[in-house]
Amino acid sequence: MGPPDPILGVTDAFKRDTNPKKVNLGVGAYRTDEGKPWVLESVRQAEATILKENLDKEYAAISGLAEFCQASARLAFGDDSDVIKNQTNATVQCISGTGSLRIGAAFLAKWYQGNKTVWIPNPTWGNHTSVMKHAGLDVKSYRYYDPKTIGFDFKGAIEDIKNIPETSIILFHACAHNPTGVDPQKEQWDELSSVVKNRNLFVIMDMAYQGFASGNIDEDAYAVRKFAKDKHNMFLAQSYAKNMGLYGERVGALTIVCNDKEDVDRVMSQLKIIIRPMYSNPPINGARIAAKILTNQDIRQLWLKEVKLMADRIITMRKQLVDNLQKVGSKKNWQHITDQIGMFCFTGLDQQQVERLTKEFSIYLTKDGRISMAGLTSKNIEYVANAIHECTK
Ligand code: PMP
Repeated sequence: MGPPDPILGVTDAFKRDTNPKKVNLGVGAYRTDEGKPWVLESVRQAEATILKENLDKEYAAISGLAEFCQASARLAFGDDSDVIKNQTNATVQCISGTGSLRIGAAFLAKWYQGNKTVWIPNPTWGNHTSVMKHAGLDVKSYRYYDPKTIGFDFKGAIEDIKNIPETSIILFHACAHNPTGVDPQKEQWDELSSVVKNRNLFVIMDMAYQGFASGNIDEDAYAVRKFAKDKHNMFLAQSYAKNMGLYGERVGALTIVCNDKEDVDRVMSQLKIIIRPMYSNPPINGARIAAKILTNQDIRQLWLKEVKLMADRIITMRKQLVDNLQKVGSKKNWQHITDQIGMFCFTGLDQQQVERLTKEFSIYLTKDGRISMAGLTSKNIEYVANAIHECTK
């Protein structure tokens, strides 16, 4: 018997709890203010349009739906980037963000000529290490989060990156860092780009939350576009789980940025050779929906509004959580809650405090003190604030 997954196991425990007041802050999925999953209206419209087209159910190409791949790369890099203008993107549709990372990692394991150690931020999304190791890459970490300030350890990150052996691989969360909610500022990204360039590192950009951090897809693509502009060797993993709410559809894209079009052909051919024995070709439904949203101007505009709405609700919950903590009498400084960004908040609670929250209040979260802001609603926020206060007195 193996251990339960540290993140998905939280939801299993939540489901078993019979306390009517229970709250699940473990799951990284958007919830409405009623605490319900939400299918975006833009997704519904895309589905209705696709249904009318009466499409067949033939296999997709090994690399997925070409229209989806192009629209996806455009969304990330921006219409006027060199990557898009010169078509130097080798883009394949993958099984959401995880699958994109996994195929990209397999490609590096097989073909990368440099040092095959991936440097990941400490801490990082629980699955990064496993995905990279599963593909045969070594994993080490660089300083990212400073528990003292509950913020970004810019100085530590730069120091560590300067010492990473040349030609190694480095992974960044493009926006809305999971689990900390702590992102570098634009000027800090610029500096990171130049330090990474000096070390001649290969860059993995993991963008699982484009639009979800600030509510604006261009704003959230800053790091990806800056690194592309600075001509790094890089790949990008995109997920539409969060920003389109297409979690279970498993739709994402991997783009390996190439030097020229001949390189694109070679890289595409090798990506297909990697994908074919793994799952042959990706599922069509989610990619059709995402492609429709991205290419139909009316639906796209609606989607952009909905992305903002989701991001705004999360930002509002951050403010309300701090207000409620003060209201119930907490004298602690909770400013990091509103400083952080994206789906998650790193509360700074230690493991014992987390255990108390779960045991005494039926509030479920991961052991590292991470809470999903989307699990908070105007109805449960006071209960949660009070519980956090009780456990941090
Ligand atoms: N990277 C990060 C940082 C994430 O938080 C997630 C989702 N939890 C993913 C990748 C991939 O998720 P998915 O495979 O569902 O797209």
